[in-house]
Amino acid sequence: MTPGRVAVVGGGIIGLAIAAELLERGADVTVYDPAPEGTDGAWHVAAGMLAPGGESAFEYPHLTRLLEASSELWPSYAASLGDVGHDDAGTLSVALTADDVADAAREWNHQKLARLTGSRLRELEPAISPRVRAGAFAAAEHQVDPRKVVAALRARLAGRLVRRRVTNLSAVDSDVLVIAAGCATAALTGLPIRPVKGQVLRLRGEPGLLKHVIDGAADGRHVYLVPRADGEIVVGATQEERADDVATAGGVHDLLRAALDLVPGLAEHELIEVAVGQRPGTPDNGPLLGFLGPDRRTIVAAGHFRNGILLTPITARLIADLVLTGAADPLLDAFAPGRFG
Ligand SMILES: Cc1cc2nc3c(=O)[nH]c(=O)nc-3n(C[C@H](O)[C@H](O)[C@H](O)COP(=O)(O)OP(=O)(O)OC[C@H]3O[C@@H](n4cnc5c(N)ncnc54)[C@H](O)[C@@H]3O)c2cc1C
Repeated sequence: MTPGRVAVVGGGIIGLAIAAELLERGADVTVYDPAPEGTDGAWHVAAGMLAPGGESAFEYPHLTRLLEASSELWPSYAASLGDVGHDDAGTLSVALTADDVADAAREWNHQKLARLTGSRLRELEPAISPRVRAGAFAAAEHQVDPRKVVAALRARLAGRLVRRRVTNLSAVDSDVLVIAAGCATAALTGLPIRPVKGQVLRLRGEPGLLKHVIDGAADGRHVYLVPRADGEIVVGATQEERADDVATAGGVHDLLRAALDLVPGLAEHELIEVAVGQRPGTPDNGPLLGFLGPDRRTIVAAGHFRNGILLTPITARLIADLVLTGAADPLLDAFAPGRFG
């Protein structure tokens, strides 16, 4: 089946990845975005943790399967894009107090991760505070720099990106329409996607303070530290059921306090950015992937919530398959956009 002209609404990481996949497979594709060279969208705030075994594993095995399938694609996907900061050193999950250890142990046991003592953690990562009691190593949890991924995808799609905020889907001239507008997908389709606010900091210091991603809890405050090769460390993230884009003293304080409790040496780093983004959340935390209604002209790829960076390669592959063949991979069965009635 040849799809004719394909329009992708939304040039965030998901829309760009789908469009690049379609272009590579010979489709005539155009991406519409109000700011095709800008920084709008959750991708610009996201840390880029590729963590397939998260809390979701407890409640939603279909999502875990999709996360794991995408995780397996990431090494070759990243290599195909050039230097996008893909790093497979792995993640150290660390816990400061006895209560933090008790909470984290549930997750470590679920993921069958071996427990590490505080001194073993500091052998692996000397910058970790002597107060940190215990941890675990998640070898399968990697990272990538979402800003570099988007830059690489934009370069692939040069000449295919059109500046336009779509407000009416029937006004888009195309044979097939893919809606990948993150949180804005709700207004375009009526689907239940809600913004879940997250505040994230970026610090800068000498490269090499941390080798692994640190995912930790300190006195009940959760924080992750994602070290880039150039000395930047991303500190994330609050999770708030709000739609505003205001950075708050309390949010920044909680992140910095937990970060410094776990890695005191960060106190000497420069605070270079405070960013606020909106995760596109859904009622069951799973993305919405598939045909919108019976006409088979309109496809949705949105609602990736906390895992949109991780889910980028599998979304691109499976949605491109859907556009080009009309056939849905069984992995998509649990993620039909109409599943909430
Ligand atoms: C604080 C924070 C931390 C995160 N950390 C991680 C992480 O570590 N790992 C991970 O896997 N995920 C993470 N995420 C989630 C991830 O960022 C999102 O799931 C992902 O960015 C969703 O991609 P998207 O392309 O659907 O939406 P977005 O990235 O939000 O992009 C949406 C695009 O649609 C465009 N658009 C909006 N309205 C219109 C319109 N009317 N017409 C045309 N275009 C439109 C926007 O301009 C934008 O370019 C994080 C998110 C946040 C907020």
